[in-house]
Amino acid sequence: MIGRLLLTPKYKLITLPTPLEKAAKLSEEYDINLYVKRDDVMELAFGGNKARKLEYILADAFSKGCDTLITRGAYHSNHARLTAAAARKAGLEAYLVLYPPIEPKVRGNLLLDKLLGANIVYVESSKEANEAMERLAKKLEGEGKKPYIIPGGGASPHGVLGYAMGFLEIFQQLRSFGEKLDYIVHATGTGATQAGLILGAKLLSLDDVGIVGISVGRDPKEVKGEVSRLVSGGAKLLNLDLNVEPEDVIVFSDYTFGGYATITREVVATMKNIALKEGLILDPVYTAKAMYGLLDLVEKGYFKSDSTIVFLHTGGTPIPFQYSELVEEYL
Ligand SMILES: *Cc1c(COP(=O)(O)O)cnc(C)c1O
Repeated sequence: MIGRLLLTPKYKLITLPTPLEKAAKLSEEYDINLYVKRDDVMELAFGGNKARKLEYILADAFSKGCDTLITRGAYHSNHARLTAAAARKAGLEAYLVLYPPIEPKVRGNLLLDKLLGANIVYVESSKEANEAMERLAKKLEGEGKKPYIIPGGGASPHGVLGYAMGFLEIFQQLRSFGEKLDYIVHATGTGATQAGLILGAKLLSLDDVGIVGISVGRDPKEVKGEVSRLVSGGAKLLNLDLNVEPEDVIVFSDYTFGGYATITREVVATMKNIALKEGLILDPVYTAKAMYGLLDLVEKGYFKSDSTIVFLHTGGTPIPFQYSELVEEYL
């Protein structure tokens, strides 16, 4: 089953595998076996989980003869930044539909979008973004361009394949350390990363590996539905009829701290705790909330004893700089 995945074309953006490291201090303190998969360590414009998805998305765009990428996101979007960078690397134009148009300070991801020469279009809210992308595509087509629309977060069937391969990579690395994989815990937003990991586990018949998503804001029901849909979509690209029921997708919603991109004292405290113990930098929108969730679930006895847990560091490196005043306030 894995053969088709290995043969699916991708456009190389990053050097894989990324590092997998033991979190020694946290493992000792919490009496667990914890590893961190460093998908924040990539050579493309500060990296992150969207880079893996974009490798498959760009290959699809090229196969369709497209010359322009259009995508959407919040103005601090990691996905928008990596789409802008991937476009440059591949010799394509990028258009970013961003929201809300609050004239944020140009820094963090937004600064990088501008540095990368992305064309930025602002809309009032996320509700208007899809329509704005369609309008933009029509306009560009009228100018003789061949645009390719990437859904927010790279949450398309091709994007899913990035983390089906990512699962394989994590599994093989842990094996080479003589460890067995029991859980992968990560921040879940659009659900495409989670869908990819679940698909990867299915392709290897490793259904007992727990793929645990920590929601960073969305309603878990919505995320579970999206994950289910994306697993089937990714599988279909591999000519497989494979389905996961939404209720079998594991999503925790207790760690949103008031909603998407809401930054509280506890979130910054987690960033600080992990920085002090492991020298590891988390971001306040995604990875710090996911790590808080992981450690809370350890304390609540959620994980089976003697299990090996991998925390997938999904990136977001520029985000602490985007929200530096808020982070500093709670330091
Ligand atoms: C986009 C993003 C996520 C969420 O990934 P999805 O595939 O959309 O669920 C998690 N962490 C970071 C840093 C991200 O940029």
